[in-house]
Amino acid sequence: MSTATLTIDLDAIVSNWRALDAMTDCETAAVVKADGYGLGAGKVGRALARAGAHRFFVAAAEEGAALRQALGPSPVISVFSGHMAGDSDIIGDTDLVPMINSVDQLIRHFEALPGHPFGIQLDTGMNRLGMEPGEWAAIRDVALAQGPQLIMSHLACADEPDIEMNEAQIRAFVEMTEGADVPRSLANTGGILLGKNYHFDLTRPGIGTFGGRPFADASPVVRLEAPVIQCRDLAPGESVGYGNKFVATRQTRIATIAAGYADGLHRVLGPKAQAFAEEEPCPIAGRISMDTIGVDITDLKGDPTSLELIGPQQTPDMLADYAGTIGYEILTSLGGRYTRRYTGG
Ligand SMILES: *Cc1c(COP(=O)(O)O)cnc(C)c1O
Repeated sequence: MSTATLTIDLDAIVSNWRALDAMTDCETAAVVKADGYGLGAGKVGRALARAGAHRFFVAAAEEGAALRQALGPSPVISVFSGHMAGDSDIIGDTDLVPMINSVDQLIRHFEALPGHPFGIQLDTGMNRLGMEPGEWAAIRDVALAQGPQLIMSHLACADEPDIEMNEAQIRAFVEMTEGADVPRSLANTGGILLGKNYHFDLTRPGIGTFGGRPFADASPVVRLEAPVIQCRDLAPGESVGYGNKFVATRQTRIATIAAGYADGLHRVLGPKAQAFAEEEPCPIAGRISMDTIGVDITDLKGDPTSLELIGPQQTPDMLADYAGTIGYEILTSLGGRYTRRYTGG
């Protein structure tokens, strides 16, 4: 085995989704954009559909078409980017539900696919996607007359419970949807944890399903194990890797493992991340290369055949902290070179 193995626990994904579902009295959808946060939208989607998810969200129509292939005809697949120019065929042919973001998109949808299901996305302050209050007020009656399936908005600060912005977004959302007899959705993972006021009729968890913050009680979902290519002894004064950033201060044994920044193990992780032999932490020695990482295994009893880089002892969120980013980015950066193994499901 010459590539690292990424093991994805579908049972943990299902149990996280069920735990989030159990926190609300409303329907729970599943967000599987960006190939299921890098973990495989098809496999993840099928496992969640079996667990009872009826509605899925993706970012782009192309992702929706691929997911439709994997899931078959029944589940609802909604597209956050709405009805973009050139997407009419794919939306019609693969039965996607665009979340309409603007008057232009609304007109495009009604002209290209009259009678085809759609949803509405409103901007309540994030200023990213969705119709603004003035725009919505102008076409609200026309849009509602065509029977949208769902009206949604998105929270900008859901992972920061004490911030005033969250309440302001609820107020804006309620005001904009007052009197509309259409199911409503506001909460992502963070929004579910904020409490009942945020749940409305449907929630849209993503990261929590995949084991990430802010869902603190999530079960771990991914394990990444890299094979050792070779081991060598260094005398004090010898160095490892590009730029000689590690210099041995004692008789040292170094393992070179098969994974690197091209696999989503960002170079900036080098100084803080570790590799694990069972429970035993081993420091990364020197710079992370494109395809390899040097690891100081001097204190191990013997040479390992592989070392763990992601698992219960070093989670994607911990790597994110080391890299100055968020777990979402660690997961979606996990490379295409890994051997992907699925368990459970
Ligand atoms: C990504 C996304 C979600 C899911 O968010 P998480 O924080 O991963 O739970 C929900 N809604 C929208 C609009 C999104 O873009």
